[in-house]
Amino acid sequence: MSNAGLLVFTGVWGLDPTFLSEECYNELSMGKAIVAENITYSYNHHLAVDHISFHIDEGEILGFLGPNGAGKTTTLKMLIGLLTPQDGKISILGMDIKKDLRKIQAQIGVCFEEKNLYEDMSAIENLNFFASLFGKKIDAEALLERVGLSAQRKDRVVNYSKGMKQRLMIARALVNQPKVLFLDEPTDGLDPVSAEVIRKIILEEKEKGVTVFLTTHDMMEADKLSDRVAFINEGKIVALDTPDNLKHEYGKRILKVRYQKDSELKEEELPLESEKTPERVREILSSYHVRDMHTEEATLEDIFIQFTGRSLE
Ligand code: ADP
Repeated sequence: MSNAGLLVFTGVWGLDPTFLSEECYNELSMGKAIVAENITYSYNHHLAVDHISFHIDEGEILGFLGPNGAGKTTTLKMLIGLLTPQDGKISILGMDIKKDLRKIQAQIGVCFEEKNLYEDMSAIENLNFFASLFGKKIDAEALLERVGLSAQRKDRVVNYSKGMKQRLMIARALVNQPKVLFLDEPTDGLDPVSAEVIRKIILEEKEKGVTVFLTTHDMMEADKLSDRVAFINEGKIVALDTPDNLKHEYGKRILKVRYQKDSELKEEELPLESEKTPERVREILSSYHVRDMHTEEATLEDIFIQFTGRSLE
């Protein structure tokens, strides 16, 4: 069965995953960079992640999209072994996170909110130090050039701006040439230049076949970068599909017409799918002077609101 078929069949693994046999689970994990099955985490009885299941294919970017407090970081922390799920299973690159955490950690790159850089050292020193932890020798200068920090490579990190630190964090996540990248809100609150550098690197890594788990509450970013997006709200995945499929399936397409009626500029929104729309358009065209007319697609944000009743901000 193809992956797509499997996804449809289980409806984003909508089958109760607790029914999956070990054999079936192993089969599902093959060719997948990440498989999370039924994972759960509570902080002092507060259910932050509530029995969620999803997978990410090798070379795929999954945008994990949800408002603050939805459970994105908690999920990411479970996927990288910083938190142990209180229920469920995780496999990364075909390895069980409980059994093979060390091996997994050697093959992943992580960039998340806690800035773990040595601020008294330069960017070059930081990268060489972290590469040495993996037993690797790297071309730190080339890596810094990719993130646009060549000119400041010898400056102490303490003097860097927020955007520069974040770009260095991304470079740091790449020192071991990871097969899977975990990025937690990588562009949140950054200047546009830094944000664009980071988005470019994410796409370059994908081109090389790297898998990316990207959390964000920026729907434009998720739309632009992700092969598929998962909507997460109050610890649950409420939808998971390609941005196009989500928009096609759930978004209403609208024809917006602005026309002059006497001295007033009027605006009408007509649903494209409605049978009455062509007639109304003819009426407007024959009776008024039309200023402009264009179709508008629903955004991911609109669809997120449909699913959850709340916005991403
Ligand atoms: P997101 O990354 O989507 O903003 P988080 O995973 O950080 O969401 O948080 C999910 C929920 O868990 C929120 O209600 C948050 O307040 C709570 N939470 C997160 N970290 C902790 C913690 N260390 N202790 C207690 N509650 C936490």
